[in-house]
Amino acid sequence: MNLILIAIDACRGDHLHCNGYPRETSPCIDQLAAEGSTFTDVTPAWPYTAISYTSMITGWYPFNHKMIANPHGVHNANDFLLDETIWSIAQVALDAGYRTASFDSLLSFWSHSKQFVRGYQHLFNPTTDSKGVSKSQLPAEAYIGEITHWLERFKDEKFFMFVHYWDTHQPFVPPERFKRWTGTEGWKLRTAADGVEVYEGVGPKAKAEEPKNLETINGYDGEVLHADHYVGEIVKCLKAQGIYDDTAIIVTADHGELMVEGPVDSVKFCMTGTWHPTMNIPLVVRVPGIDAKVKTSKALMHHVDIAPTLCDVLGLEWPDVLDGESVLPIMRGEKDKLRDAVIGMGTYGHVPQRFIKTADHKFMVNLRPEPYAEQLERLMKTGWRILWPDPPKVELTDRKTDPEERKNLAEERPDLAKKMAQLLDEELKAKMRGPDPFRPEMRERIWMGESLWN
Ligand SMILES: [Zn+2]
Repeated sequence: MNLILIAIDACRGDHLHCNGYPRETSPCIDQLAAEGSTFTDVTPAWPYTAISYTSMITGWYPFNHKMIANPHGVHNANDFLLDETIWSIAQVALDAGYRTASFDSLLSFWSHSKQFVRGYQHLFNPTTDSKGVSKSQLPAEAYIGEITHWLERFKDEKFFMFVHYWDTHQPFVPPERFKRWTGTEGWKLRTAADGVEVYEGVGPKAKAEEPKNLETINGYDGEVLHADHYVGEIVKCLKAQGIYDDTAIIVTADHGELMVEGPVDSVKFCMTGTWHPTMNIPLVVRVPGIDAKVKTSKALMHHVDIAPTLCDVLGLEWPDVLDGESVLPIMRGEKDKLRDAVIGMGTYGHVPQRFIKTADHKFMVNLRPEPYAEQLERLMKTGWRILWPDPPKVELTDRKTDPEERKNLAEERPDLAKKMAQLLDEELKAKMRGPDPFRPEMRERIWMGESLWN
């Protein structure tokens, strides 16, 4: 069995048609979901790129692999590179005799995070030209030819391939042929828990309908369609080479994206904070030979489940512990969940956040930014203080009635808030192997600055 892991940067799980989004943004991914399973409640490791990809490929939570800042804007990034003793997916596959290839530009982070190279025999970095100059994020059409060429060349070998598409990342300007929506077509209107009218998966109606916002959101959906098309091109190539039935495909993302939503209304169109829009990603798993009885699962999943799933699909032994579990038993209908609660974390501007989510509730702690005094001063000088108002200290939301996380129940239901806080504490203690990277002396070493934009 071969395996292709496709990650679409900043692709929200709830903007895929197979996950319930009314617009047909994802016909090719929908087809994979129909042949396998889609998971609709998947929490990424972090709302930023490098950190999440590191969890995806190591199977470890950020507090265990300890990459807790995007190395783009971190001037002391060497302190935050992955420990070389921590295993990655490609290394494990390579050791088991798989040919390994990566088509991604994650190495182009300033610090050249080596975990995105380790274990790959073939590495195509689509954002670096022949002189080694880094370009901006190229669209999928710029390197689909490299991907299909590689598949044609190595179709007779067993392989593991990683593909990273940037199309759903800002800016949201899809090619003409993917500009399908111009207005509010298809969106479902509902009254949110705080009484505001919202479009599901988009945000407050009034804001969404502002012409500039409408253009951006429609552009985003066009970009989902754009990336989806190039998922389809890979499938087409596999079929043409006669290896589709020998190749498992996993489609996911590193984090989501804010539209005009989130409890802090002044923030939009950027991937920051650990509210629903950024912390909901796709996970579509299609494995030939697996009888996927469960087509759509609402089980609480996490990035750390991807590496164990890959091991399960390919029959590999991971040489170390893993924080997650394989999703295959859920697909087969042997289990209906992997966990009762899932933890998440990240940062919102200068505010470190962590949360715990059950099927019914989400409880989030917004840590105070005191340790960031110097950084905060700089942020205020640049006007960021205005853009990034402090969120409340804790937020408790009802996931069933308030998926938009608009109504904070923390004061109204103190007992539940306390219980969830305890649960969060217990989960963190149970999962953390070593010191908390968010402890004050570590926080002081991080400059979050420009790291917000990936
Ligand atoms: Zn990203």
